[in-house]
Amino acid sequence: MILKIEKIGLSLEVEDELLNKLLEIGKTHYPKEFGGFLIGYYSENNMHLHITDTILPKKYQASKYNFERSTKGIENELVEFYAENLRKIYIGEWHTHPDNSPIPSATDISAINTIINSKKTSIANPVLLIIGCSNTTVDFGFYVWFENKLYKYE
Ligand SMILES: [Zn+2]
Repeated sequence: MILKIEKIGLSLEVEDELLNKLLEIGKTHYPKEFGGFLIGYYSENNMHLHITDTILPKKYQASKYNFERSTKGIENELVEFYAENLRKIYIGEWHTHPDNSPIPSATDISAINTIINSKKTSIANPVLLIIGCSNTTVDFGFYVWFENKLYKYE
């Protein structure tokens, strides 16, 4: 699918195959939240993002309403993606909201700030994908932190 934020001129592209993969992985942890890191690359003008892969955390804590991952041990996998394509980098994170809508919680917003201020994973415009899912429904919510605000891709 291709999504846009007209107001700031950003666009995002992601294959259904990757989204289905994330959904399937997330469902195996139901009713707890689960998630991971998103890998992708930006166009030369930085306005278009292609999300291509995920890295799953080696260490994490999860409940039905919370998910916290550690970045420990993901460096090697990041290097592998970088070797495959020099433009492929860590661009953000994803997690599920079991039986809930894909709207960022207060914890999700503070996690974004942690990413921006982190020495290891610091990126200026982290992308957040929330997968709201139940047995019968699924809803993908893509967000990006841009100039001190969270925008939703439509
Ligand atoms: Zn959340």
